[in-house]
Amino acid sequence: MKVHPELHANGAQTRKDIVCLSPGIWTAVGYAASNVHMIEGSATTTIIGASESTRAASKIREEFRKLTDKPVGRIVCTHSHRDHISGAAIFSGESVPIFASHLFQSDLIDVDETAIAANRAPGRRTRARFGIGLTSRERVSPGCGPGDRPKEGPGAGIVKPGRLVEADCIVDLDGVSARLILAPGETADHMVVWLPEQRILFCGDNCHHAFPNLYAIRGTPYRDYGAWAKSLARLADLRPEVLSPGHARPVFGESRIQDFLSTTRDAILHVMKTGADGLDAGLPLDDIVATEALPKGLADKPRLKEFPGKFSWSIRAFAEGTLGWYDRNPTHLGTLASLERAAPRTWRNWREARKH
Ligand SMILES: [Zn+2]
Repeated sequence: MKVHPELHANGAQTRKDIVCLSPGIWTAVGYAASNVHMIEGSATTTIIGASESTRAASKIREEFRKLTDKPVGRIVCTHSHRDHISGAAIFSGESVPIFASHLFQSDLIDVDETAIAANRAPGRRTRARFGIGLTSRERVSPGCGPGDRPKEGPGAGIVKPGRLVEADCIVDLDGVSARLILAPGETADHMVVWLPEQRILFCGDNCHHAFPNLYAIRGTPYRDYGAWAKSLARLADLRPEVLSPGHARPVFGESRIQDFLSTTRDAILHVMKTGADGLDAGLPLDDIVATEALPKGLADKPRLKEFPGKFSWSIRAFAEGTLGWYDRNPTHLGTLASLERAAPRTWRNWREARKH
């Protein structure tokens, strides 16, 4: 099977590894799509992120126990996406405090079955997007994690967070001081963890080794790009020396991290500016996305390669999120069916055939 060389090269970012960030602080990469972090305290540990399945969480817990046998004292959720919360019960046994933003909202917790919503569509799209149903060999990479990884128990180990954080605050992680910072970005409920003494930042999915996932084609509401860019500027102001994201390998070194955070922010601002200028100039959306791209200087950054996020999809989402669905193509104001628009004669024949 032929694999895009850039996607293949990106596999090095999600190679299975337990990375030591500082004495007593580790990140598990490559055991699942998302990372899990552990901070060792005096008598207990803190887990940040809870993996994407109970199986992956069990394997990570096993690896972490080789480093310390101290029990888990608390879990911090950086956000509510299911690939970061599905193994919480494995780490917590449902009995330790779980911290999350007060805006935490999962589509798997307190679900109102009577609410009218297109609930099945995202599942179908997710299966296509992540190659679910393909063999491990065929499923090379979803772009943000290894393709070959355990799938058992996605969603099965979710535990509702009980410690909701309403404003930035200092918390004691059993002897390790941390600041929990509300930093909306990929989701409105993003909360990052900053260790000021060690200068380590756990940034969730607001920044990792790829173009920011401004729109996910499984079907996601508009992610406030302006708020996301502001959060990245705030995170850069912390001057981290280690950045450990929710996906891919940690980054070491203040200047590399500054470059990492600022280029991700620049990419978001470029999407916004390109979209706004094109729409203000009265250009049809199709023409904007067909002609615009990231500028040189950003496009050639290995860390801004377009997986899983994509520049053109992000412009469309910006237009939709700020101006709504109308794309300035008057033919879209009517009620033409897709086949009628593409091939009117075939459409007429099809309708005739249905009458008989
Ligand atoms: Zn994620």
